[in-house]
Amino acid sequence: MTITEPAGTRTASTFDSLNPRTGAVVGTHPIASAADVEAAVARARTAAAWWGALTFAERKTRLNAWKGHLTRKIGELAEIMEAETGKPHGDAMLECALAIDHLSWAAGHAGKVLKRRKVPSGLVMANQKATVEFAPLGVIGVIGPWNYPVFTPMGSIAYALAAGNAVVFKPSEYTPGVGIWLAQTFAEVIEKPVFQVVTGMGDTGAALCRSGVNKVAFTGSTATGKRVMAAASETLTPVLIEAGGKDALIVDADADIEAAVDGAVWGANANAGQTCAGVERVYVHERVYDDFLTQVVARTKELHATNDAGAKIGPITMPSQLAIIRRHIDDAIAHGGKAVLGGPDSVGERFVQPTILVDVPEDSSAVTEETFGPTMTVTKVKDMDEAVALTNASRYALGSSVFSKRNGMKIAEQLRVGMTAINGVITFAGVPSLPFGGVGDSGFGRIHGPEGLKEFTYAHAITNQRMKPLIALTTFQRTEKAEEQLGKMITMLHGRGGK
Ligand code: NDP
Repeated sequence: MTITEPAGTRTASTFDSLNPRTGAVVGTHPIASAADVEAAVARARTAAAWWGALTFAERKTRLNAWKGHLTRKIGELAEIMEAETGKPHGDAMLECALAIDHLSWAAGHAGKVLKRRKVPSGLVMANQKATVEFAPLGVIGVIGPWNYPVFTPMGSIAYALAAGNAVVFKPSEYTPGVGIWLAQTFAEVIEKPVFQVVTGMGDTGAALCRSGVNKVAFTGSTATGKRVMAAASETLTPVLIEAGGKDALIVDADADIEAAVDGAVWGANANAGQTCAGVERVYVHERVYDDFLTQVVARTKELHATNDAGAKIGPITMPSQLAIIRRHIDDAIAHGGKAVLGGPDSVGERFVQPTILVDVPEDSSAVTEETFGPTMTVTKVKDMDEAVALTNASRYALGSSVFSKRNGMKIAEQLRVGMTAINGVITFAGVPSLPFGGVGDSGFGRIHGPEGLKEFTYAHAITNQRMKPLIALTTFQRTEKAEEQLGKMITMLHGRGGK
């Protein structure tokens, strides 16, 4: 296990990461000061000049070397993640596997997506050869969460690196060991500090926002996202915000109910519900509501959040979340909702048992706010129009799921969200060529896919004159005749619009 100091030897300039199952100290790590962050960014800037000057093929070779190294040590990474988050070993392995798959895609596709390419120059500028390339921004600051401490930041780290940037990563204070391990393995195979980690609390993250990095990629709460944006605005530093969600799962009358139940149970309870694109609301067609509810309760009853080795649900990683989960359940019940499974007593000191709420008013915090626990509200709707309207009424808009045999695509296309899985849950996150990100309070910008690569670049457009222009326009030598010719050409090209 990677620790930077002997566990438990905490000083004013270090902090402990704890095992949320037991409270035991997992590792002790430095709290990076603003000066430490600036030094890391300065090192990154030098490394970025070297890394950015490599060809795509040279970067791919190096990133593939890291990928192989990570894959061979995947068990070690999963073990640290398991200790710091409390998630089951199988879930930790799945997360590492998906992150490695994204790293592979980003390394393999960066050249194709970003390299200089020719674009049509149009009739007015027909004498110009027009090209565009997507060039690296320089140094990217990545601020990561604790719920998926490898998969989520890797969506920024891998894509930013593949696009030719250096990265300084500030992992969550709950999962610093995972971040340090990632940077150490990178340093073992790549000769310069292109990817570094700075550990600490919120202040370290705030220092990274102000450090002069060329972009900040943040994953966390909407509230902190606003603070990150405010700090970054002081230096006109662009930001990518992956904030939370309140994702809905819609069940149509013709859905395969067993599959919908399976999706809802996993989507709401996997990782103890601490998933930004996890299922928190379920809207079910009235014709299949009773059947769905009976089955979803029966299946969820089989799940227990415990400290046992074989448990499918672990603890709540961040202790302060327990009060939020309890408040949402209490609020639902105070406003006429019913717990058909679990309820307020499900919230323990470290573990929360799965809870299913029905008849919850749409303005209750259990429906409007991100709960981040193993809970779901199940609501009867008269038709799919109502399901779509209720889904779209949230200020969050990250992911969503639709279960329907015939109307999946039709329903999905009406949802105002970043991603939708039809007849599945969260499957979009595992497809490296698909962009991932939200709308509204869920944030903006995209990780993954071609959009995720472009997110860490700027477009550099170049025109190159191939021959003298037919009509010389961008000169003080421009004649009245040229202006007349331009008028005629524009009329010919666009004058019929709207007729
Ligand atoms: P935060 O948004 O507070 O923290 C996310 C990251 O930002 C952490 O690395 C944190 O560091 C860092 N940070 C905190 N303050 C600042 C700051 N002022 N400037 C820069 N970086 C900062 O999330 P929490 O972990 O506290 O979780 C709170 C809620 O956020 C959860 O209840 C959940 O609803 C939501 N969330 C959403 C996630 C998602 O995937 N979209 C992931 C995690 C949480 P540190 O941890 O050291 O404070």
